[in-house]
Amino acid sequence: MVDVATLEKRPPSTIALLEEMERAYKDLPMEAIVKQDILRQGIHFLPEAFQVIGEYKSKDYFIFSFDHIPLADLKDGADTKAPEEIKIQGGYFDLLKTVISTRNNPHSPYKMKSVEGIPTLFLGDISIGQAEYPPIPSWYKHKTKNGKFPGEIAPVIEWGYLLYLTVFRNCQYFGKDEECAYCDINHNYRQQKGAGRPYTGVKDVEDILEVLSWVDQEDQVAKVYTITGGSVLTSLKKKNEVDFYLQYPEAIEKAFPKRWMGKLVAQAFEKEDCRKFKDAGIEIYHPNYEVWDKQLFEKICPGKASWIGWDTWIRRVVDSAEVFGPDKVIPNFVGGVELSEPWGFKTVKEAIDSTKQGLDFFMNKGIVPRFTAWCPEPYTTLGQQAGPPLVYFCELLRAWKETFEKYNLPTPPGYGEPGPGKAVFSVSAFMDVIGYSGRN
Ligand code: SF4
Repeated sequence: MVDVATLEKRPPSTIALLEEMERAYKDLPMEAIVKQDILRQGIHFLPEAFQVIGEYKSKDYFIFSFDHIPLADLKDGADTKAPEEIKIQGGYFDLLKTVISTRNNPHSPYKMKSVEGIPTLFLGDISIGQAEYPPIPSWYKHKTKNGKFPGEIAPVIEWGYLLYLTVFRNCQYFGKDEECAYCDINHNYRQQKGAGRPYTGVKDVEDILEVLSWVDQEDQVAKVYTITGGSVLTSLKKKNEVDFYLQYPEAIEKAFPKRWMGKLVAQAFEKEDCRKFKDAGIEIYHPNYEVWDKQLFEKICPGKASWIGWDTWIRRVVDSAEVFGPDKVIPNFVGGVELSEPWGFKTVKEAIDSTKQGLDFFMNKGIVPRFTAWCPEPYTTLGQQAGPPLVYFCELLRAWKETFEKYNLPTPPGYGEPGPGKAVFSVSAFMDVIGYSGRN
């Protein structure tokens, strides 16, 4: 059930709040500030917002739900018609085009309505901008020999830039004692199956190659693919974790050598295993450390903490830079989860101080962590929560940008162009702030 009281407890969004942040954070583009606020609150799509002209790509639920309420509780078509992302521009802050991932939340103050047939995002009575929805790639119309849809096997996100291959849609860290406390991969799998949707648990290499053959022939937008999925602790399809994940880039690079840039999001592996992925053609490695504070890591990522441990995890991230090169190791953390109840920090300052330590630790070595904005999904250990206030995300973007600039680091590869109006990374604004020189 939706805990409406919790959702209503969330620090509110108003134009006055956004203007206050605009004045306080002149080093951050307004596009980034508004994006983080929309990610924090989610979007309420009114039914009229789905009546737009032409077709568009709806949410493929490519790994997690990234919704604030269960799929079964989404009404008025939001469960099947919400676009994967929106691209807003103009509005009260005269925004440049800004790509933002859709997180359904019927209680959000951000309402998508239709104004003369154009989807338009409102905060209260004020327009935040006209919206576009992502186009459907031509190759989505095919079906594999096994009867699978391309949007299920190789969905695109980031406005078509990234092919997201969740090859294992469960995680063997299972239950409250092992699953990461913010993660709903196992629950999302169950709710997608419960809704009767095609949702393949373990993807066949052959299905992926078949879909990629259409992408290869028909698509010029996708530049990168990500291989990812849940952790494998024992074995999967008679393979250990490394061998299971390795089969995908090996097959893809054999069939389509260097056609796209290959990325791997997986556990932190020892160097010799990293070498296997590098040799297979993976260029970018994301051994996500999730939260920097060691005690919080143990609480929030109990499975990773007990099977691998924080010290080993961090050491492996650093070691992997010897294999891939430091600029190609890009570990993710979940921005805001260090403020979650009951274990998190009690103040924004403590949270930022800790997270900034982690940024400095890695960036000093040329490794650039990136973050996704925490979405308090209902079926997780942390559950529905108010989540951090907007000021936290502004402080986080400032800390990230300052540290990145202090070490004079290159733009992380595999994310497209940086900067306001250009960034396509949709689940946080870290790419939107790169190169921004500030305003008066
Ligand atoms: S390791 Fe954690 S974040 Fe990754 S899929 Fe498993 S539970 Fe989710």
